[in-house]
Amino acid sequence: MVRPAQAGRTMKRQARVRARLPLLFGLKETQRMNTFHCQNCGHPIFFENVRCLKCSSDLAFLPDRMTMSAIEPADRADDGAPLWRPKPRPQKRPSAARYRLCHNNAAYQACNFAVPGDDPNPLCVSCRQTHTLPDLSQPDNIQRWYRIESAKRRLFYTLAKMGLLDATPPNGERDGPIFEFLADQPGQQVITGHAQGLITLNVAEADDAERVKRRIEMHEPYRTLLGHLRHEAGHFYWDHLIGPLPDRLERFRELFGDERQDYTQALQAHYSGGQPPGWQDDYVSAYATAHPWEDWAETWAHYLHMVDLLETAASYNTRLTVPGTDSDVEDVINPLEAGAPDFDALVDQWVPVTLLVNSLNRSLGQEDAYPFALSVAALRKLRFVHDVICEKKKEQDAEDAQQAQDAKAAKP
Ligand SMILES: [Zn+2]
Ligand SMILES: [Zn+2]
Ligand SMILES: [Zn+2]
Repeated sequence: MVRPAQAGRTMKRQARVRARLPLLFGLKETQRMNTFHCQNCGHPIFFENVRCLKCSSDLAFLPDRMTMSAIEPADRADDGAPLWRPKPRPQKRPSAARYRLCHNNAAYQACNFAVPGDDPNPLCVSCRQTHTLPDLSQPDNIQRWYRIESAKRRLFYTLAKMGLLDATPPNGERDGPIFEFLADQPGQQVITGHAQGLITLNVAEADDAERVKRRIEMHEPYRTLLGHLRHEAGHFYWDHLIGPLPDRLERFRELFGDERQDYTQALQAHYSGGQPPGWQDDYVSAYATAHPWEDWAETWAHYLHMVDLLETAASYNTRLTVPGTDSDVEDVINPLEAGAPDFDALVDQWVPVTLLVNSLNRSLGQEDAYPFALSVAALRKLRFVHDVICEKKKEQDAEDAQQAQDAKAAKP
């Protein structure tokens, strides 16, 4: 499915695709994300890295620039706190920008996000969303917390890129869902879920053995920390983007069903009776059959899987065509980038990319990374999620433009 470059045809196809595509997520055409490189030595770096493996530069994610960067110590803040700045590229002048490391980096090495120097919050934009931690005096909990925060930063990245939360909220404020990470206590089991803006996650999900055990017990093909967080974020955004808007709510009910049916009873029925036969024709997963809210959250999570996977594939300059067809070879388009594809173009690329990633996994003796097949009805729901997010982004951009205009007009 991935063939050597056929540059001429590909470029023509790309130009054609781009010409008919709206600017979905508002970045400039020239901004290519997100293969991160150390700007000091050019070595590729991953989102989770804290040190460049080639030149040993310290690394941090800079939320105001939405990129990973090599950093170096700069001057000190007025209160004596150490400040950092992006390392200059060879033969370039150092940047005037200043950052602090997130408090959870300094205290626990549990975070690689930086905090802009003028942001008064000691915690980065991702860590400040965590309201309650497990008991960190227990060493296992530090490891669990680290893994969960790492998945949460990836969630943060995608939500911020889609315009669903502010990567640089003013005055050290928070934006997006709040999280609590809790451990079971004797006689008290922590249920992972969402309620009124608060996402609760049982930290046992960070233990591989425990998570796999639960996956098998629940007959689930896929269970990851990132999947949990994406799913629960779906509930959070339903409350903001669907519930309060009558027109959208009506469209939601047409596609997902009436969410006013009793939630507790629906879940009980799901766990005692299993899923209806033939559920694959209408739902992205068996759990999605439990209740319209769960259907939405599962579909939302799949949409985020799709966007993140395509962005990663695009950043590696992946080229593909659907196996068994003679269609043009084309570059995977970054859906978070300029000229992002409409939904059909996105799905056209999503399917072969998941086939590729599953085939690569099987070559290594691993299970399928994406063990799902999306039906026509599931894709219809996925398109609804896509449309809702795009509309929100458009509104946000209009609001930002208005604010910029007002600020300009207010200047003497
Ligand atoms: Zn380097
Ligand atoms: Zn942090
Ligand atoms: Zn749920």
